Amino acid sequence: MIRVGIGYDSHRFAEGRLLVLAGVTIPFARGLTGHSDADVATHACIDALLGAVGMGDIGSHFPDTDPEYSGADSIALMAEVHRRIRSTGWTANQVDVTVILELPRLGPHLDAMRERLAGPLGIAPADVSVKATTNEGMGFIGRGEGVAAMAVATLRRLEAAPPLQSRPGDSLQQA
Ligand code: MG
Repeated sequence: MIRVGIGYDSHRFAEGRLLVLAGVTIPFARGLTGHSDADVATHACIDALLGAVGMGDIGSHFPDTDPEYSGADSIALMAEVHRRIRSTGWTANQVDVTVILELPRLGPHLDAMRERLAGPLGIAPADVSVKATTNEGMGFIGRGEGVAAMAVATLRRLEAAPPLQSRPGDSLQQA
């Protein structure tokens, strides 16, 4: 049995910030702004993983009003999300991400991004796809105002996991 989730995120460019995408710091004049490190690609992955088990979204796990998550490393947040998902008897199987931006070009960084995402998910880089596309100059991405990312994740059942007593998201929604 496989479960599928989808995630989407966008963040605005700002001066004086690092550009962190899928856990890789990419040399560029501007970075993305946000409460955490604003890693839009990892945030889309987190939402895809959570969506696959109906466990809410990144904001419900790590509120952007909580100072604990100010400047947070999003890869570490994804590792924590994956621990929470595994406690329900599911584990990451495969992830596919598309980052949408005009600049910079991500081609030289895609393999490093796959490795960074794969680590906390306990899967091989071959099971993580990271792609980049422009928006052909259209809209907020085309104007260079920000970056968006979309992700799809599949989860499989953890072998040896105890049988689920309820739907995976139920306990979280009551918390
Ligand atoms: Mg975000």
